Amino acid sequence: MVQNTVSLTFASTNTLLISDGKTHLIIDPHFTRPGFVGQNNLLGRISPSPERIAYGLACLGVKSLDAVLLTHTHYDHALDAAEVARMTGACLVGSPSAEKIAIGAGLPKTNCQIAVERVPMKFGAFEVIFLRGAHISIPPLLPVIGMAREIKRPLTPPQFASAYREGGTYAILLQYPPSITILCMGSAGYFPNWLSGIQAQTVILPVGGLDFRGKAYRQMLFEQSVLAVDARRLFFSHWDDFTRPLDAPPRMMPACRKALIQLETLAAKAQISTARLKPWLSISL
Ligand SMILES: [Zn+2]
Repeated sequence: MVQNTVSLTFASTNTLLISDGKTHLIIDPHFTRPGFVGQNNLLGRISPSPERIAYGLACLGVKSLDAVLLTHTHYDHALDAAEVARMTGACLVGSPSAEKIAIGAGLPKTNCQIAVERVPMKFGAFEVIFLRGAHISIPPLLPVIGMAREIKRPLTPPQFASAYREGGTYAILLQYPPSITILCMGSAGYFPNWLSGIQAQTVILPVGGLDFRGKAYRQMLFEQSVLAVDARRLFFSHWDDFTRPLDAPPRMMPACRKALIQLETLAAKAQISTARLKPWLSISL
């Protein structure tokens, strides 16, 4: 029997299931994926859809989860978080804004925890550490995505997407004995030396919006987030159009094509392997 096997399964957007077969952790679950037409669309108020969440969890093959870990509280990361925690018995972990989402959804207090930066939490054999990160700045979208502001009051759906304010952005470091380390970023932002003292074999980098930033920005992002932690593997998430339902074939967002090619080239030069994560495909880490 193989021991200490950790698998990573991507489920579109920045949804990542990480499991050792006993403990199941999910990051930024986004299964409802409201679009621009039909009921529950982005032109009006949106709610998590229990049916779509059940479909996503079934595709991942999980009924129970130990933790729902939130990198930040924009709707494409946090809309479904409380409902996923409720349906799977998981503990929702994130910023104070994530707690407002949990309270607004009526999640029991025992199923919610505010992450303290750089203080490890244990879930089964996993050690989970929240690291202060940064959100990519996309000037034309600032008013829409509630950048850099917090959710101040309990948030009960339905709500406009813009009510899901960022609430600060974290990267989540998962450590699994004896030597598996995975850094899951929440957005393609950085600040100088933001990962000082951190090592990670695998980095998962969401590329959404990166084409809005210049080549020099992307080079610095790579240096500060991938080279800085001595990564050997770089996986790309958040590349697909998240306004399409989960059962539709994934389609690449137009705003990340140039970034993907540049980052793949930089990684090849540094002998770091790369992959664009494919929905539902499990990778052994
Ligand atoms: Zn965001």
